[in-house]
Amino acid sequence: MSSPAPERTNLLGLPRPALEAFVAQLGSRPFRARQLMNWIYKRGVGEFAAMTDLARDFRARLGAHAEVRAPEIVRVQRSADGTVKWLLRADASQAFETVFIPEPDRGTLCISSQVGCALDCSFCSTAQQGFNRNLTTAEIVGQVWLASAQLAAEGGSAAAGTEPLERRVTNVVLMGMGEPLANFRNVVPALDILLDDYGCDLSRRRVTLSTSGLVPQIYRLAEVSNVALAVSLHAPDDALRNELVPINRKHPIAELLAACWHYLDERNGRSVTFEYVMLDGVNDSAAQARALARLLKGHPAKVNLIPFNPFPGTRYTRSPAPVIQRFRDELLQRGVLATVRRTRGEDIDAACGQLAGRVIDRTTVRLGSKVFGVAVQP
Ligand code: SAH
Repeated sequence: MSSPAPERTNLLGLPRPALEAFVAQLGSRPFRARQLMNWIYKRGVGEFAAMTDLARDFRARLGAHAEVRAPEIVRVQRSADGTVKWLLRADASQAFETVFIPEPDRGTLCISSQVGCALDCSFCSTAQQGFNRNLTTAEIVGQVWLASAQLAAEGGSAAAGTEPLERRVTNVVLMGMGEPLANFRNVVPALDILLDDYGCDLSRRRVTLSTSGLVPQIYRLAEVSNVALAVSLHAPDDALRNELVPINRKHPIAELLAACWHYLDERNGRSVTFEYVMLDGVNDSAAQARALARLLKGHPAKVNLIPFNPFPGTRYTRSPAPVIQRFRDELLQRGVLATVRRTRGEDIDAACGQLAGRVIDRTTVRLGSKVFGVAVQP
């Protein structure tokens, strides 16, 4: 009688100490973990048989008990501007998205942390679909591993326009689907692997976690990680932010900012980036820019203005370009650093807030979630 084969451990989910323990369990020396990571992350190899400097019997044991498995690709879309979007399988009927944004001096990978999102920000497409589940650490790291391998396989081609664009992943932002701090338990080990010299080997300034403002988790993050922090602010006062980012009712702006400054103190960070989506006639007046400047002036803050990206069913429209410029100028004149995010990948719905994937909502059935909250055929 044979018992069912035990599930194999996906090594993409193990930060170095856990991998060392795993390797020891298989009867090998812990330093083999570093050799393994070198194959996996530096050379992009996932087949144990190809890891020729590991002992044959160790490779056999790895083959029996472990695997290196990135999420399966459902679909790849390429934008005219060089942006690439992967739709990745979460299970038979659900999927999440990863976006690669090439620029001349950097290649940014925007990764997801959850299938859907429970936070219900009124201007975000992901929110419309509701929430299904957290991604595992292996699924989070797997997005980086997979994209790097795919881009390497493509070679250095696919430049949009005349300028050559960076085709490697040099920066990672947790700005895809989901609220990363609501998936703290799986996100933190993933950050460890992204930063580890033996892992993805990214500097802490090249990994950015963006949060809608889960204040207690910002304090917890300060204890265990030092990645760059971005915060989705979107409004200069609590009344408006309550409407746009409902988590504000629980953690208002003053508490959120205090958590941000604490994070910088604790982690020796340079500044916090505040994301601010430009919604026509909602949060884009000169008075609101001045109110925002009052909040941030004198603090280590940068404001990143994001032109609103529309999606089906939304009630908002994008602020006109001159209004966005005026808003930025009001901030700059008051000594607050501000930039306007260039919209990328719009033609393939890969821009900020447009990531939809396929999500079956398991939270309450909310108005608006019905349109998207169904399984879509592959
Ligand atoms: N949940 C995290 C991570 C998502 S980051 C967070 O809220 O920060 C994605 C960024 O895009 C956030 O700043 C989000 O507020 C912004 N965004 C969401 N919908 C958008 C839209 N339709 N247009 C432009 N930006 C949007």
